[in-house]
Amino acid sequence: MSSSDRKRGSTPPAEPPGPGGAMHGSVLGKRCFVLDLDGTVYLGNRPVKGAVEFIRRRWDDCDFYFLSNNTSRGPAAYIKKLRSMGIPAEAGQLLSPTLPLAAYLRKSGIERAYLVGNRDYGAALAEAVPELRLGPEDAQAVILSYDTELTYEKLRISAHLLQKPETVYLATHPDPVCPDPAGPLPDVGSFIALYEKAVGRLPDRIFGKPDPAVLGPLPSLYPREAMVIAGDRLSTDKKLADNAGIDFILVLSGEAKEEDLLGEERLPWRMVRDLGELGEDGI
Ligand SMILES: [Mg+2]
Repeated sequence: MSSSDRKRGSTPPAEPPGPGGAMHGSVLGKRCFVLDLDGTVYLGNRPVKGAVEFIRRRWDDCDFYFLSNNTSRGPAAYIKKLRSMGIPAEAGQLLSPTLPLAAYLRKSGIERAYLVGNRDYGAALAEAVPELRLGPEDAQAVILSYDTELTYEKLRISAHLLQKPETVYLATHPDPVCPDPAGPLPDVGSFIALYEKAVGRLPDRIFGKPDPAVLGPLPSLYPREAMVIAGDRLSTDKKLADNAGIDFILVLSGEAKEEDLLGEERLPWRMVRDLGELGEDGI
């Protein structure tokens, strides 16, 4: 199926095809899998049914990369979590907004920034950009990340900094909510709305999915047709795939429901209940 065949124009499909319908490209020709984590590989602390088995089955034949916008923790925590589930992931296989953020800070010469973020993420950022000093003094930028240790003191300091027009305003990712087994929780997109209300500013730059920069060098390492992105969220995972021109597998194990596709201009290349449904034959 060519990309022009998949593009359905602006008219949404009358009825989204089911997993056995039109969206059934074969993954046999894929060599590079970029997998979203929460809702795709695991839900909270539980592996998604069949996902780990699928990844292990294809591990030796394909290259796997794991992609999360979640900046509440540093990369090491995600590697540890994947390994605890039986996926032998290495640090180089984890993609996150930290990579394009670090590149931006270096390129812009920003060496002093105030982080609205967790202690663990601050340590990861300092490791990624050793010359960066984090703190409110002479901060050239405010970096908004998924801060689950948020305090009013952090809001006060950051709001005052953002009232100076010269302060660069950066956000690690746009997701309004983070999935949680008990219901969605406010994520960076919600924090962005808070600052917009309070200080009348929107970020100068937002990293993470759906910005293809989050894929780092991958698009130059593999032919596009050998790559596939799998995820459970249309506004970030599918949009990233569409933006990067890469085939997309929608998994119904997380946020998106089949009927949500009615609003989509392009159908996913493949839709499955979960990664385990990709089957032992890999199709
Ligand atoms: Mg997800």
